[in-house]
Amino acid sequence: MPSTKADAFIPYARQEIGDDDIAAVIAALKDPWLTTGPGVASFEADFCATTGASHAVAVSNGTAALHAAMRAIGVGPGDEVIVPAITFAASANAAVYEGATPIFADVEADTLLIDVNDAARRITMRTKAIVAVDYAGQPCDYTALHALCRAHGLKLIADACHAIGGSYKGRPVGTLADVSTFSFHPAKHITTGEGGMCTTADARMADTMRRFRNHGLDSDHRARAEKGAFTYDMVELGYNYRLTDLQCALGRTQIKRLAQFVARRQEIAAAYDQAFAGLNGVRALATRADCTHARHLYVIELDPEALGINRNAAYQFLRERGIGANVHYAPVHLFSFYRKRFGTREGMCPVAERAAENILTLPLFPGLTDAEIARVIAAVRALG
Ligand SMILES: *Cc1c(COP(=O)(O)O)cnc(C)c1O
Repeated sequence: MPSTKADAFIPYARQEIGDDDIAAVIAALKDPWLTTGPGVASFEADFCATTGASHAVAVSNGTAALHAAMRAIGVGPGDEVIVPAITFAASANAAVYEGATPIFADVEADTLLIDVNDAARRITMRTKAIVAVDYAGQPCDYTALHALCRAHGLKLIADACHAIGGSYKGRPVGTLADVSTFSFHPAKHITTGEGGMCTTADARMADTMRRFRNHGLDSDHRARAEKGAFTYDMVELGYNYRLTDLQCALGRTQIKRLAQFVARRQEIAAAYDQAFAGLNGVRALATRADCTHARHLYVIELDPEALGINRNAAYQFLRERGIGANVHYAPVHLFSFYRKRFGTREGMCPVAERAAENILTLPLFPGLTDAEIARVIAAVRALG
């Protein structure tokens, strides 16, 4: 049956591309520099201006940003990196790329953010860094994380792929860790198709990440062209993780609308919060008063006993009504790769494992209409 507007499928996420974005990419196509051009530094400057970060390094995706962060803080073979069990696999994979061992920490039951006390218990002589994931868009407890890192001489990476536009105790996301990483995948707040960014207050780390995204070379193509030089040294093993000027042009028009996108996401989240408050068997994740939640994902935790229906059945129920529910995430330590390579197993992060059975992500993106919000709410109410 052809779907009408009233029952069209609502995805969990969708990008917002406007006429300004399209015009900017067309203009960028006519520029002599399609990559390694001046548009990259312009996007980086806009990113610093928006987040308050001192240095921003644009890379080809959020996973490359995490990889660059691992290199910048010197993660290597023999090191352990503590990562929350509930996150996208890339948060842990980046440590593996550099030969390190991810150690999975459990999460807080009410927010699904890294449980800092549990992370503390997993610190050993080999621990080099903690990856804090601002899950769903809510900043972690950075006061506690910094105290822990200071006490043990650890570096802190913020995987802020969900949290651009958020803040913690008045400090913007992007300035809360030694290195913060962002993604511009279409599901995220702003998009460049594929894309990522690292921010840091440390100029040397920024230099390291700039070199790392360009094969480990000591200069890039444009710097050589401007000097009329052709020689370069390769000082370490890097990758081609560059973001093109086309993508940076899109990023520049997208980031102009970030505040507007975040405000609309917060409005939708507030409507869901209000609708689900007191609803038996459905609990929204807890939010902390001392931060601005960037609202990337709207996650509910179901109580299957109270609802008389389990999560997988609830997922099907919503899909049948055209609601694109999703699950973020299966615990990373239970993936077969991690079981085989690192011997991880059930029982290692019990809070994460239990929560992962019962969570559902509901549609949340700036273009969601009020009628669509009402459809999502009605469908969730009908679960019970
Ligand atoms: C999206 C995401 C990434 C990876 O970003 P890509 O741009 O898809 O490589 C990493 N961590 C988290 C938490 C993410 O949501």
